[in-house]
Amino acid sequence: MKLTINNLSFTYAGVPALSDVELEVGTGEVLSIVGPNGSGKSTLLKCINRILKPKQNSVLIDGKDTSTFNLKELSKLIGYVPQSSTSTFSFTVFDVVLMGRKPYIHWSLSERDNEIVADMLDFLGIGDLAMRHFNELSGGEQQKVIVARALAQQPQVLLLDEPTSSLDIRHQLEILCLLRRLALTKGCSIIVSMHDLNLASRFSDRMIIIKKGKIFASGTPESVLTEETIESVYGIRCKVTNSVLGKPQVVPLISDLPEETTLKMRPEITEKL
Ligand code: ADP
Ligand code: MG
Repeated sequence: MKLTINNLSFTYAGVPALSDVELEVGTGEVLSIVGPNGSGKSTLLKCINRILKPKQNSVLIDGKDTSTFNLKELSKLIGYVPQSSTSTFSFTVFDVVLMGRKPYIHWSLSERDNEIVADMLDFLGIGDLAMRHFNELSGGEQQKVIVARALAQQPQVLLLDEPTSSLDIRHQLEILCLLRRLALTKGCSIIVSMHDLNLASRFSDRMIIIKKGKIFASGTPESVLTEETIESVYGIRCKVTNSVLGKPQVVPLISDLPEETTLKMRPEITEKL
């Protein structure tokens, strides 16, 4: 499976949010999207799964224009985990995950649908939560359930919008390890937006960094996470080191920030940060 994006642009009521985005993602690849708040990460993910419809569709799966697919066909190909799940499900975990089977259900549920849901809960290590109520779970547990629901669609491409943003460090690692495992064992292509540059570096095959709706850099974490690029995109200086993990890790520097950013802190304070 190959997902190709050609020349994608999107405007909200005349205000450009994405311009000329070009991208390719292959089978079993993990691609992360990073960039400042408001740079267009969520808009890009929503254009890929057609929640938003760019004037000229430029998203192709194996060379086929995705605007020619109906909703059911598209949901069998692309799964989506939104930035926050606002609906407070009073359903059980099992039923929430079963909702992911919707594109496949014709008249009634089959034994196969129940089996797939049970498999997905096992894959995420949350089989023991199956009969709990979704809205009584912790944020980390809820995130895994929402990922399981997207996986129950058995998509070839999984899009996740900041799936780790509200999680503690252990759950962040768990979710990202899971995405790698999914790519490796099921050949799923993963496109994930996130803020943490160091986790993105560690878990992705390739990264893109977006600035004001345009891809500023794309490639391996080594080629994208340079001190120059980070300064141009985020306006902060940093040191990039790969001494611990063999992957670039970014250490932001405070002492060079403009005065208004450091709230006019005295130098003896900023030097220690
Ligand atoms: P990110 O996910 O990187 O924070 P978004 O894709 O949410 O960025 O937003 C990109 C730009 O589009 C921002 O300037 C934002 O204000 C604007 N935007 C996002 N959603 C809407 C909307 N529904 N209507 C109008 N403008 C929007
Ligand atoms: Mg966003």
